[in-house]
Amino acid sequence: MSEYRPTIGVEVHAQLKTETKLFCGCPVAFGEEANTNVCAICLGLPGVLPSLNKKAVELAIKAGLALNCEIHTKSIFARKNYFYPDLPKGYQITQYRFPIATDGKILVEGKEIRIKRVHLEEESAKSIHETDKSLIDYNRSGVPLIEIVTEPDIDSPDMAVAYLKTLQKILQFESISDAVMARAEFRCEPNISVSKEEGKLGTRTEVKNLNSFKAVKNSLSSEIKRQIGILEAGEVVEQATIHYSEETGKTWVARSKEKSSDYRYFPEPDLPPLNVDKKWIEEIKATLGELPGRKKEKYISLGLSKEDAKIISSSSAASSLFEEILKLVNEPLEVSKWILRDYRSLGGPDISAASFAEMIEMVLSGEISRNAGAEVLAEMTRTKKAPKQIVKEKNLAQISDSNALEKIVREVLDENPDESTRLKKGEKKLIGFFVGQVMKKTKGKADPKEVSRIISEYEKKY
Ligand SMILES: [Zn+2]
Repeated sequence: MSEYRPTIGVEVHAQLKTETKLFCGCPVAFGEEANTNVCAICLGLPGVLPSLNKKAVELAIKAGLALNCEIHTKSIFARKNYFYPDLPKGYQITQYRFPIATDGKILVEGKEIRIKRVHLEEESAKSIHETDKSLIDYNRSGVPLIEIVTEPDIDSPDMAVAYLKTLQKILQFESISDAVMARAEFRCEPNISVSKEEGKLGTRTEVKNLNSFKAVKNSLSSEIKRQIGILEAGEVVEQATIHYSEETGKTWVARSKEKSSDYRYFPEPDLPPLNVDKKWIEEIKATLGELPGRKKEKYISLGLSKEDAKIISSSSAASSLFEEILKLVNEPLEVSKWILRDYRSLGGPDISAASFAEMIEMVLSGEISRNAGAEVLAEMTRTKKAPKQIVKEKNLAQISDSNALEKIVREVLDENPDESTRLKKGEKKLIGFFVGQVMKKTKGKADPKEVSRIISEYEKKY
């Protein structure tokens, strides 16, 4: 018996990182008192006219470019008509036949996932259901969103999660969306069908509004089981909208799926076609950063391990700091160590690349020890003082003067007569012990290489 194969596509609604809403000047803010960031336009009062937020268009274009889409110089807003209390106008302004971007693709774990379309639309209000009543917060009404739709190129729940993580990272990295799932800024609606027959797709169902990767994975796994159960019983899967309960881990049919004809889409008469010129698209293209995947490859080519390259490239703050420092200190491995260990353990502070580089130079030249370097970094973060000044004030300079070190080595040898005798007899492993003693005596300020050299020579002399 052949196996059922799942075919999965994903729709994501991502909130664009703008100051104001899509068609009015109301602020976009999270967690404010309900119904305070509203006006006649986003409350859908009669007779008002929408005016389009340019920043939202810019971010939608940027998203299209980051997903390797074709950007359309002309796109058209449409009304999607339906009634719901969270939609006071009775329609949602979205893009339908003519979206701003189409035909993209991204690589996810080596597999190409095609992006069918990216379009702009407004958010509806938020319904809050309580036991005896429902409340509505219109603060979210009119918040700018993009919807990103894939082709059905995904073949497992794990792959769906991998795609979503990659997409989320791209949107965050390019400052298109904060994409915080807990704030509903990145919501996933996977659709899924199963089929045994090669090249033939089953009837698909769509899982609504998932706000965690775990919910995506579990709901898809549950839905695969449910659909296979139906088919095995000789029945047919109906096209439907599916809900998922995090508590039970089960999916159930909420309602049979509306067809797009149910919405009576038509072009939005209050907004002209959206025309963007090619020059603007080129300007936006120039602001695109290097995506994490490409950066990671570059860092591996500089000699970093896969794991280290992944960690640095996945944070835009860490990767830009890393690259800025490299311009000043061209020692990728050394610099990556400082970023991965010390910078990260300090919580990734806002720090000047020039000062960071200066501190690393001081360590590389032997002016200060590695431990002192870490101390300097922590102090720089706190006080914003220059590394040289911190070294001076805290007396952190390494002792590398041979005469001074020889004196300390002698003291340490005198203090440990037994070990000293054994060293003289040629027990070389004691060199490490004495270096340790000197470091202890100098509170870590002795140059360990120089100390080791002096002790080795001392051992040879006798
Ligand atoms: Zn408003």
